[in-house]
Amino acid sequence: MAEQKRDYYEVLGVDKNANEDEIKKAYRKLAKKYHPDANPDNKKEAEAKFKEVNEAYENLSDPQKRRMYDQFGHNGPQGFGGNGGGYYSYSTSGFDGFDGFDFGDLGDIFSIFGGGFRRGNSARHTGPVKGADLRYNLEISFEEAFLGVEKEISIVREDNCSTCNGTGAAPGSKVENCPRCGGTGQVKQVQTTILGQSQVIRPCDMCHGEGKIIKEPCQTCRGKGTVKKPVKLKVKIPAGIDENQTVALRGEGGPGQRGGQKGDLYIMVHIKRHNIYTRQDYNVLCDVPITFTQATLGAELKIPMVDGTVETYKIPEGTSTGTRFRIKGKGFKAINRNYEGDFIFTVEIQTPKRLSKEQRELLVQLAKTMNEQPPIKKRGLFG
Ligand SMILES: [Zn+2]
Ligand SMILES: [Zn+2]
Repeated sequence: MAEQKRDYYEVLGVDKNANEDEIKKAYRKLAKKYHPDANPDNKKEAEAKFKEVNEAYENLSDPQKRRMYDQFGHNGPQGFGGNGGGYYSYSTSGFDGFDGFDFGDLGDIFSIFGGGFRRGNSARHTGPVKGADLRYNLEISFEEAFLGVEKEISIVREDNCSTCNGTGAAPGSKVENCPRCGGTGQVKQVQTTILGQSQVIRPCDMCHGEGKIIKEPCQTCRGKGTVKKPVKLKVKIPAGIDENQTVALRGEGGPGQRGGQKGDLYIMVHIKRHNIYTRQDYNVLCDVPITFTQATLGAELKIPMVDGTVETYKIPEGTSTGTRFRIKGKGFKAINRNYEGDFIFTVEIQTPKRLSKEQRELLVQLAKTMNEQPPIKKRGLFG
């Protein structure tokens, strides 16, 4: 767990602002250099480097992954560890084209990527296929976003059928190797073209590339090998999370096929509007009403912080309405670095609508000691 991972940009030797071409170029150069076959003398070391370079490229060449990485690095503060685990985030635009999908009875949760598309075509029909990635929309309060929170969510997702262990065959029934492809799931076809003959490998159409023929399908899953199951999951939302940021739960997506790993579950966070506070970057903004005597004479204000504590803040005499004051470090925490925003409040002078007789008298006295109306300020030429 304590393994120190190198920065992906550093691994590829490119700038943080490098474009896709630059990243590709750098990757090609390094992949050639560290390919284990090209380094027979220190194969082990080269292999490790090669892996590192590949991982960096995988993450920086995919715009969505790159954005996640830029924002959260290898791991969030309470990262789930392991291979690329942790908190990730990307903007909504990353989901363009997916939002309109109707995934029916999966409810809140739906598939973002079909399983296995990233595995390449040749492996798609016969090799292991990673399970589908899922997305869940989670709404939390402003305070929860500020402080961090652990939530339990209930989802319904596809899981391996426990009756048949995901094979799709009724328990005790026979699964036979496909007679057409001999269990390989692939058939070779010779095509004759004007350039001569060529051999094409296709997924077997008798077993649909599975290599097996199920004689008697499982009753529970009707031969599919998967069933929908409700599950409850705990999700840790880190303090400082912002609207549309995402927490990834590795391996909590759909089941893989043919030994493929499980998909991931992306929890997309939405934050409820607060009736006092708003967020701007890492700062918390708030309006604070004050009386005109407080504004005139100065006052010690009690300012409610988002975490429930109260800060005392002294405003000077002669404070105008609309003046902004800043309490340092009382804003949102940044997730991947040591930084806190500020709490910024704007004072608003409340003009009293009703006065007691006594108050009125005092004000009249006061008014007599002042000019009726202050002179209209002349603006300078460049004011
Ligand atoms: Zn089954
Ligand atoms: Zn077959």
